[in-house]
Amino acid sequence: MRLTRYFLPTLKETPAEAQIVSHQLMLRAGMIRQASAGIYSWLPLGFRVLKRIEQIVREEQDLAGCQEVLMPTIQSADLWKKSGRYGDYGKEMLRITDRHDREMLYGPTNEELITDIFANEVRSYKELPKLLYHIQWKFRDEVRPRFGVMRGREFLMKDAYSFDIDYAAARRAYNKMFVSYLRTYARMGLKAIPMAADTGPIGGDLSHEFIILAETGESQVYCHKDLIERDVLALEVDFDSDLEPIVQSWTGVYAATDEKHDPVRYEAIPADRRAEARGIEVGHIFHFGTKYSEPLGAKVSGPNGEMTYVQMGSYGIGVSRLVGAIIEASHDDAGIIWPDSVAPFHVGLVNLKVTDPAAAKFCDEIYAKLRAAGIEVLYDDRDERAGAKFATMDLIGLPWQLVVGPRGLASGTVELKRRATGEKQELSLDSALSKLG
Ligand code: ATP
Ligand code: MG
Ligand code: MG
Ligand code: MG
Repeated sequence: MRLTRYFLPTLKETPAEAQIVSHQLMLRAGMIRQASAGIYSWLPLGFRVLKRIEQIVREEQDLAGCQEVLMPTIQSADLWKKSGRYGDYGKEMLRITDRHDREMLYGPTNEELITDIFANEVRSYKELPKLLYHIQWKFRDEVRPRFGVMRGREFLMKDAYSFDIDYAAARRAYNKMFVSYLRTYARMGLKAIPMAADTGPIGGDLSHEFIILAETGESQVYCHKDLIERDVLALEVDFDSDLEPIVQSWTGVYAATDEKHDPVRYEAIPADRRAEARGIEVGHIFHFGTKYSEPLGAKVSGPNGEMTYVQMGSYGIGVSRLVGAIIEASHDDAGIIWPDSVAPFHVGLVNLKVTDPAAAKFCDEIYAKLRAAGIEVLYDDRDERAGAKFATMDLIGLPWQLVVGPRGLASGTVELKRRATGEKQELSLDSALSKLG
């Protein structure tokens, strides 16, 4: 993509309405614009990151054996009346009346709807287990929408739902999602720690929140430092195997959110291994048994013909919140530092002398080569000062910058900069390209 054609409305000044760095940088880097309180439009750069995060979530859900569906954003109130949550949800639920005076709502979550789908189609235990997910916009009329996409009113969530014949099987589904979540966040370059958590309005008795430690986090959390230091991706996972040992290896070490905090257990940890910090909730998994299957009639016949309400769980990931959370975890004074796996482009190609035909020709060739190699590149072909070009590249945080200036042009070399470390190398074009490939 050529920057002269790209819609990238960057801002020089830090917008006054943004309190935390991720919100400031998302506005400055032209990723989002507010449409109304807690509701955002995603501009091209932001949308690319959102899609990359969504794709990692999708790949990991698929790998764990979860099947993708797509349920609507607008739901009928009927199912929510059956589950009892129509009243419970209170003002956080956006209620809508259609032209026939039917009560509708913009879904804040989908337990009711998916349970109804299941109840209408599945009759026998032989069709179990079932694990379904979708990635869809949600609406919650938060009291205090703030911090940009971190606490929006409209936000993108991945929510999965499991259906099983008994607790042991439901526990296997829970374990799959638990391990899948560890991998999902690690692939985004994040250290997300599963912590014992409260179940809130979703209900149930077994629950973990996945938390990223960050000063701007809204939760108070406590954990053993061992958990922060683990290399999740070093472990190969077979999702058909017994995952209980992996789950135990995490839950056996202390980690809890404020609501579940046990000072006695926490203080048993050596003082220098305790981490007491603020955290961002980037995911939340629940086992809630028959809380929805009973009121909504989701039952199957068992091996002896008896009818059993299915055991369920639900599993959420804050896809749009993750965009902000990743920036909170990875930035410096100059701007965003995207982990390779979620970066909107892999490399920024910077032509420092656009008015020089030889430089333009050389850069056009590099641009063509990168594209031919399938490397996503944002080509700064604007007629701008070098300083402004570097500032833009640092702000938008692409993992690599490939800079072509007059000096390199004479010697046939380019400068390759790694955004994360600031390390720069003068290289021949071929060796620069091979580093990027
Ligand atoms: P929070 O405690 O931040 O209000 P929650 O516990 O109400 O979140 P869940 O019902 O557990 O949220 O939803 C699953 C995930 O959806 C959360 O872990 C979070 O990552 C994301 N999420 C929830 N509310 C919002 C929001 N208002 N804006 C962006 N993401 C959100
Ligand atoms: Mg909430
Ligand atoms: Mg919460
Ligand atoms: Mg939660």
